[in-house]
Amino acid sequence: MIRINENYLKLQSSYLFVEIAKRVSVYQQENPEADIIRLGIGDVTRALPPACIQAFSQGVKEMAADATFRGYGPEQGYDFLRDKIAANDYQVRGADISSDEIFVSDGSKCDSGNIQELFAGDIRLAIPDPVYPVYLDTNVMAGRTGEFADGRYDKILYLDSLPENGFVPNLPAQPVDLIYLCFPNNPTGASISRDTLKLWVDYARENKALILYDAAYQAFIRDQALPRSIFEIEGAREVAIEFRSFSKTAGFTGTRCAFTVVPKTCMAYDGNGQKHSLHALWNRRHSTKFNGVSYPVQRAAEAVYSPEGQAQVQELVDYYLNNAGLIREEMAALGFEFAGGENSPYIWVNCRRDAWEFFDLLLKKAGVVTTPGPGFGKCGEGFIRISAFNSYANVETAMTRIREALGAGL
Ligand code: PLP
Repeated sequence: MIRINENYLKLQSSYLFVEIAKRVSVYQQENPEADIIRLGIGDVTRALPPACIQAFSQGVKEMAADATFRGYGPEQGYDFLRDKIAANDYQVRGADISSDEIFVSDGSKCDSGNIQELFAGDIRLAIPDPVYPVYLDTNVMAGRTGEFADGRYDKILYLDSLPENGFVPNLPAQPVDLIYLCFPNNPTGASISRDTLKLWVDYARENKALILYDAAYQAFIRDQALPRSIFEIEGAREVAIEFRSFSKTAGFTGTRCAFTVVPKTCMAYDGNGQKHSLHALWNRRHSTKFNGVSYPVQRAAEAVYSPEGQAQVQELVDYYLNNAGLIREEMAALGFEFAGGENSPYIWVNCRRDAWEFFDLLLKKAGVVTTPGPGFGKCGEGFIRISAFNSYANVETAMTRIREALGAGL
C-alpha cells in the first residue's frame, strides 16, 4: 500500500491567497463594472530590461545553429554568469566570495525550500513571524515543526517582528541551530543595519548555528549604510548561506534565474561533532537533483551586469521605489503608522483594526486589493501589506480612491 508523508497533513492550507481570491471574485461578480487595482501581489509588472532581452534573443539564436548549440550546461551555472555575480555583487563590496561558491538556479523559492534537506530532522529552528511562508512550510513537510495549535507549530522558535523592535527580531533567548532571516523583508519591508546583522553572525558563531539569509530584495536598498549581503559582515563566511534572485532585481519572475551562495568555509556537524562542508553537500544535492538553468536565460541574467543592464535595472527598481514613496506619503497623510517602502517594494501598514476588515473596506470602497497580514503569521494581525509592484498611474488612482474612501469615513 502506497503511503503518504503524513507531515503534509500538518500543513495549513494556503488560506491567505485562496481567501483573497474568493473575496475579490465575489466583489467582482457583484460589481462587474468595478476596476480593481491589485496591490496585493508580490509579482513585478514591468518588462525585462532591453539589455536582458537582447542577450536572451542572442542566446536563443545560438541554440538554432549546430555550431553554437548548447545542451546540458554545468549544474552550478555557466562561468560567464558566476564570474560576473562574484565580481559585481560581492567582491566590489568587499565581500570575499568566489565564483565557485555561487550556485545558479531557477529560483530562490526552490533554493530556500530545498536547502533544509541538508540538515538533521531534529535541529532547533528559528523562523521570523511574519514570514515568507516557504521557510516554514518546507520544514513542516520535513517533519521538523511539531503540531499546529493556536496559529503556531510547537517546535518552532518564532522570531517576533513587531513595531517594538522595528520589525527586526531580537536574538533568540534559547539556543537554536538554524535561523532564517530575510532583509529587506517580505512582508514588512524592514531593513537590518550592519551592526544588528553582526550580532546575528556573532550569535551563529557562538552557537555553531547557521543563518539562511534571503536577500531577494537587496536591489531595493538605496541607503548606502545598509548591508546588501550578509557576507559584507565579518565572520559570516563560516555561518551563513545567502539566497539571491533576479526576479525582483530585473523582472525575472517569469523567466526564472536566481543563485545561492555557499562559502567553502561554511560548516555543519554530524552526530559525532565532526565538521562537514555545506558547499560540498549542496553541490552534491544540486548536481543530483538539478540540471541547470537554460543557456539563454543565463545570458539574459549576465546582461544585468553590463553597463546598460546596470542602468536599466536601476531605473526599473527606482520606478517601483517611486511607487512605494507615493504609498508611504499617502499612508502618512492618512495618519497610519507603517514600515518599509524606502529600501523595499513593500509597505506594512498598521491598520488599527482587524486586517481582514480593513482588506474588505479597501476592496469594497476603493476597489483596491492588498494582502492581510495574518497570512504571514500571528504577528501580522492588525497589518496589511501594500505592494509597490504596479504602474505609477494605478498606484496613484488606488491612493486617491483610498483617501476618498477613508476620508468619507467609510
Ligand atoms: N524570497 C522572498 C523573500 C520572496 O518574497 C520571493 C518571492 O516573492 C522569493 C524568495 C522567490 O524568488 P524566486 O522568484 O527567485 O523564486
